[in-house]
Amino acid sequence: MKNVDFKSLISHCKEYGFIFPSSEIYDGLSAAYDYGPLGIELKNNIKQYWWKSMVQMHQNIVGLDAAIFMHPKTWKASGHVDAFNDPMIDNKDSKKRYRADQLIESYAEKIETKIQKDVDKAAKKFGDSFEEKQFRETNGRIIDRQKKIDYAINTMNQHLKDANMDGLKALIEELEIVDPEGGSRNWTDVRQFNLMFHTQLGAIAGEEDKLYLRPETAQGIFVNFLNVQKSTRQKLPFGIAQIGKAFRNEIVARQFIFRMREFEQMEMQFFVKPGEEMKWYDYWKQTRLEWHKALGTPAENLRFHDHDNLAHYANAAVDIEFKFPFGFRELEGIHSRTDFDLKSHQELSGKKLQYFDPTVNENYVPYVVETSIGCDRMFLSQIGQALREETVPDADGKDSTRTVMKLHPALAPIKAAVMPLLKNKEELVKASTDVFDKLKAHVICQYDEKDAIGRRYRRQDAIGTPYSITIDFDTLENNTVTIRDRDTLEQKRVKIDDVSKIVSDSCNINNIL
Ligand code: ATP
Repeated sequence: MKNVDFKSLISHCKEYGFIFPSSEIYDGLSAAYDYGPLGIELKNNIKQYWWKSMVQMHQNIVGLDAAIFMHPKTWKASGHVDAFNDPMIDNKDSKKRYRADQLIESYAEKIETKIQKDVDKAAKKFGDSFEEKQFRETNGRIIDRQKKIDYAINTMNQHLKDANMDGLKALIEELEIVDPEGGSRNWTDVRQFNLMFHTQLGAIAGEEDKLYLRPETAQGIFVNFLNVQKSTRQKLPFGIAQIGKAFRNEIVARQFIFRMREFEQMEMQFFVKPGEEMKWYDYWKQTRLEWHKALGTPAENLRFHDHDNLAHYANAAVDIEFKFPFGFRELEGIHSRTDFDLKSHQELSGKKLQYFDPTVNENYVPYVVETSIGCDRMFLSQIGQALREETVPDADGKDSTRTVMKLHPALAPIKAAVMPLLKNKEELVKASTDVFDKLKAHVICQYDEKDAIGRRYRRQDAIGTPYSITIDFDTLENNTVTIRDRDTLEQKRVKIDDVSKIVSDSCNINNIL
């Protein structure tokens, strides 16, 4: 059994209607994608899992759906107008554009790959007696290589902190980093590039009427802090959760839906008493990790990564990284945002954004701990780990290869397929439609009569359907059907009356809450 490669994953998504390139008939639009009929079901299930576990399961977390357009001052206060920049660099020969920090990071990653190769070799050689930590700390070649990584990353972080673009350019030259496309070292200067898209309000264009497409959903929560608190009479600590689109004019947007210019975030801002933020930061860090594990994501595919460079608003920040097909990358961020946002909005708007704490008889601006996960990255993590090729016995007991998407049943876009054994037997088709009609009110299911039964099973495996229900001649005699399990391939005979309970029970999202 093996996971399919990244290219095959992308074509699988298109072939089966999970994800299409945006406006494909015009050759697509870079870093924009459309979710197809199965994609939208999977995406909705991910959102439902997040919403239920964050909002429904917490008495003190409530939901919000704020507008994408916000008063332009919002983005001045939040710091995005002045500081939401990435360092951009172009190669003069290839005319390709890059993020300067990403070029340096991939330089470090390449060295790390070499280190890992040495480690793997030694592990093979020494077997059970191998101590990786000791080996890394004592092997001369690894020590030298690790020094190079540390130097590159530390120097880069310092330059990023100081917004020193000349320093970044000098570092790229010093490390002799070449254009990954053409190998050239003919670089432009590094410039700051603001990631916010803008448009204008009404017919008259001018700086005054400049509107931004929100680069994060969080600000809609901050500006509504008091509206929500007063209307719900929540007491600290409490949270506001929101799912919605965000837009970033990413300099380099590759890797399919991992980095898009229009994407969806699931964010929750948790308002706490100042001084208690680290306690809640640790709480949400663990809670969010458990949320990922509950779906069956193996622990070794998830890891924490503390931020070296804290954003202007944060006093602590960690990413939950997932092992994507192209390596460990950020899937979710947990940030302790202090009182930065509420205070800035308070100052710029002149409106108080304070909480009256009856326990101490005092007004204050709460601190905030944020959890922020990209819905699309979550989608990619799930299909990436679920889609596999494996060898299974076919109907004659011979080995055959199948492509199967082993999604958690609660996330699967279609829960069950209903199939007559033969499509030209009227009585089987009639019985199948009856079963389908009974089932459809409980779970989302598909009726499928085309092709031989084996091919239909394979088709359902490829889209992750946990159950296939077959109506055969015995059904007409005794009101039973066979139910086939996607993962074990086991086929059981069950009563028609029990089918909907079996399927809905095992696909119920509540099983993982
Ligand atoms: P990165 O470092 O990968 O650019 P970020 O640190 O800028 O991400 P945050 O601002 O913390 O990301 O946003 C929260 C979440 O939103 C991320 O963890 C990610 O899942 C998602 N996200 C951010 N940018 C994108 C994007 N361009 N496309 C898809 N998802 C994104």
